[in-house]
Amino acid sequence: MDERPLISHAWSTFRALAAATTRVGVTAVTFFFIGNLEAQAEGRGQPPPAIGRVPVPLPPSRPRETPAPLPEAPPLAKAEEAAPKAAEAYPALCVERLAKLGVKLEPRPAITDGLCGAQHPFRLSNLPDGIEASPAAEVGCPMAEAFARWVDEVVEPEAKTHLGLAAKTIQIGTSYQCRGQNRVSTAKLSEHAFANAVDVMGFTFDKGPPLPVKERSIDTPEGRFQAAVKSRACAYFTTVLGPGSDATHTDHLHLDLRARKGGYRVCQ
Ligand SMILES: [Zn+2]
Repeated sequence: MDERPLISHAWSTFRALAAATTRVGVTAVTFFFIGNLEAQAEGRGQPPPAIGRVPVPLPPSRPRETPAPLPEAPPLAKAEEAAPKAAEAYPALCVERLAKLGVKLEPRPAITDGLCGAQHPFRLSNLPDGIEASPAAEVGCPMAEAFARWVDEVVEPEAKTHLGLAAKTIQIGTSYQCRGQNRVSTAKLSEHAFANAVDVMGFTFDKGPPLPVKERSIDTPEGRFQAAVKSRACAYFTTVLGPGSDATHTDHLHLDLRARKGGYRVCQ
């Protein structure tokens, strides 16, 4: 048997196999490379760290959906109004202080009227020095005390100073009433709704005509009396409105004890 053709055949076979193996290898590497690029594009694969380069951090992924906006917080005043009122103790010390001033309060039943009301309202008619509140006001004790002190320490002496008269009656308009501020039903509740406000319509004296609250010139004794009792009321109440304040207070003095953050007062 001739060995040369056999060797030649074996060599040819080996070369053919080697060539085929190389083609398969290149194809496999090509498929692997393309596959890896696609994987990177889809975010499934991680590129190898580049040598000598600082990796750049990827931006945070975007949320799939934009979150719905948060509901608006209710206005502060409405939140305060909606909060249940804590039970108030009977204002025994306040009643006692008023008794020392000569003011006898008549307790009234608790007022419960939706968001309006008062746990310990009183009927206030007799004031210091024989002065009357007419008609009687229905107020809580703190308001009764502030009002009685204002009449005793301001109204009576100012009547003597400017008019030479003794105050006899404080004419009352609204005291307790369940309503919004300035009688606007959609407005924040007035302090009248909590028996914490009194509207003064005018004054009477031991002689002479009544003195209704209205726009008055301070060039007159009546005007100076009204201006004095109004401005000095700011030391007793946290809200004082009247002629010169706004269009809804041209004919009375609105006095209340609204509690505001930081002890802020309205004195106009
Ligand atoms: Zn009022």
